[in-house]
Amino acid sequence: MPIDREKATLALDEPVSRVRLVSPARARALEKLGVRTLRDLLTHFPRSYIDLSRVESCAGARIGETCTIRGTVHEIRLKKPRRGLSLVEIALVDGTGIIMVTAFRQPWLMDQIKAGTEVAVSGKVVFDYGYKRMTNPFIEVVGEGEEVTGTVVPVHPATEKLSAAWVRRIVANGLEAAEGAFDPLPLGLRLRYRLMSRNAALHAIHFPTALAESDEARRRLVYEELLYLELFLMQEGMARSAGREPVRHVTDGPRVGAFAAGLPFELTGEQQRARDEILEAMAADGCMNHMLLGDVGTGKTVVAGHALAAAADTGGQALLLAPTEVLARQHMAGLGERLEEAGVSCALLTGSTPAAERAEMLERFAAGALDVLIGTHALLSDDVVPARLTLAVIDEQQRFGVDQRAKLLEKGEAPDALYLTATPIPRTLALALYGNLTLSYIKHRPHDSARRTTHVLPRDRQGEAFDGAREALARGEQVFVVCPLVGKDSEERDRKAAGKARDADAAGEEYHPAVAIEDEADFASDDVAAATREADMLQRQTFADYTVGLLHGGMGTEAKREVMEAFRAGEVQVLVATTVIEVGVDVPNATVMIVEDADRFGLAQLHQLRGRVGRGEKAAEVYLISASQREESLARLSAMESTDDGFELAAFDLSLRREGDILGNRQHGASGLKLVNIMRDGAVIEAARADAQALLELDPALEEPDHRALAREVRLMFAHESTIQGG
Ligand code: ADP
Ligand code: MG
Repeated sequence: MPIDREKATLALDEPVSRVRLVSPARARALEKLGVRTLRDLLTHFPRSYIDLSRVESCAGARIGETCTIRGTVHEIRLKKPRRGLSLVEIALVDGTGIIMVTAFRQPWLMDQIKAGTEVAVSGKVVFDYGYKRMTNPFIEVVGEGEEVTGTVVPVHPATEKLSAAWVRRIVANGLEAAEGAFDPLPLGLRLRYRLMSRNAALHAIHFPTALAESDEARRRLVYEELLYLELFLMQEGMARSAGREPVRHVTDGPRVGAFAAGLPFELTGEQQRARDEILEAMAADGCMNHMLLGDVGTGKTVVAGHALAAAADTGGQALLLAPTEVLARQHMAGLGERLEEAGVSCALLTGSTPAAERAEMLERFAAGALDVLIGTHALLSDDVVPARLTLAVIDEQQRFGVDQRAKLLEKGEAPDALYLTATPIPRTLALALYGNLTLSYIKHRPHDSARRTTHVLPRDRQGEAFDGAREALARGEQVFVVCPLVGKDSEERDRKAAGKARDADAAGEEYHPAVAIEDEADFASDDVAAATREADMLQRQTFADYTVGLLHGGMGTEAKREVMEAFRAGEVQVLVATTVIEVGVDVPNATVMIVEDADRFGLAQLHQLRGRVGRGEKAAEVYLISASQREESLARLSAMESTDDGFELAAFDLSLRREGDILGNRQHGASGLKLVNIMRDGAVIEAARADAQALLELDPALEEPDHRALAREVRLMFAHESTIQGG
């Protein structure tokens, strides 16, 4: 029977329940994984592979290496070492010996695996407490009537209700259903880059016969994702500039003047240039889509203040969105006050704003009687309706998803957009990922002469850090002490983070390590207890002559606010905090930061943290206390000593380059980019951009027969987000 190609193509967008073996219950489980259509299913890519060509016996498995071991479960036990934490321990045997397998937070394994079950586990072998062990390996039940063919087993993101083995079977059926679908990529492009056909690539990424094959498949699919993204951005850009009422801001009005005159300092040259570039873009025809990039502490806020004042001068309104309540409050207290003095009315809206106050504020905003609303996610609420929104500013924009940005921008006819970020991203990449974006960079902090020095100290020299802190206190300056989460040991924390990443991954969400750490579930009572103990100890012994305050994620909003206020006012001189202080907090008089167990933090996070000091004119000292003697963690930390520049630091550490930390794939559509890693695939991004440009030059609406399939793909892929770029 000849394959009906048309039919197979259309089948891609039918509900996944059409696929063989997908019962209503399984369809629901798939939905949890973000899979609704056959297309979703086929792009539900494996998150890893078990390479059965590297199967070892228990005896032969080498410590420190990653391999697969097949064996029989001798014993399986569920343990709950503390509240909220469960682990399953499996003793796995083969003819040659035994290996202990520990799986965190997967209690359902108890239902799937019994003594006697045949399983394959794949992971890194370590030696601990007398046994070879694997922690959180990929665990596969073998047998279950399924013959593992080939030597590579894909591991798809799965859920409690739907095991990876089931997902695998369903994907196999899905591939069958899509057999023969048209390849939307024009042949010319496929040939130029020697790319597999789509069908071949889908087969090879889901069921490779060798790992190299999945790499080739990935290459094709990544290029495809990026080409669609670029086409989408470019077409969107064209559509947006057509038929919209351009906002031309007045940028030399009285409020901008008063705001600038009221500043207690002079802008640096870089700040002035950024300000000019932004104001120029705001004054121009068309929608501004501008990103202000600058490392932490470079003074982006005050630059954005000019833009807010310009909106008011124009008779427009503005929203300033910040990712945390602490940060929103700080913007209101600092920037808001300066704006008020310049004749720009401001108000603060957060989740904890009392209802009556909120109602009154929103009424004023809707009536156009309020110029600027500063706030958290609360701003996104549907009842926040400006009279005439002409500017939206998003601080720490990498913390927000595309849907949130779109939601904010939708509140106006065609508002200008200004994004602030400290995330290092090369210019070309930013352009490629944001389409028609303009950028300003601030490279240096205002007080570059006031140096910030970072010292890495082993635990037994912690006293030196306290000495440094006491000297600063004696000069009337202030100190941060950052406690890590206790979480027993760093490995466990990593495992937790890894687990979360996977959960988030499975749920199709973006994963932010920093957010995960602030997450309440992680504030187990012993973490809070440890921070409390630390604060107590410091108050009684180390800093007995000063007032020590405590700030942690388990505290209520009001309590947090009070402590921050007291610290800002100088009533508290030493602030013991968990990573809640990470983003944006600004207390210029704080000049010393001590980070305990610094090796438990990622470099990106440490850099964010140290950005809290050295913000004033005084020199600052950062002490990173390492509990670890391990060479690699010391080497990693020493990168913090050798450069103070976040952009340079990024080059040191892969953890800084994880896409989630850069801009977040999610921002370009959860449905759009699944495989792309924006750092690793930089060259492909640029190629795809050039190709998209060339295609659209020849055929702007992608109407030629050769391009129709392409146009359809682009439309379908980004169907949910026709307002990505908003401005
Ligand atoms: P970030 O870019 O990380 O958001 P902020 O905008 O919070 O940085 O600014 C960091 C600190 O530098 C703030 O205390 C701010 O008042 C101060 N600052 C900004 N610009 C200048 C300047 N030109 N001269 C002196 N201090 C400045
Ligand atoms: Mg900031």
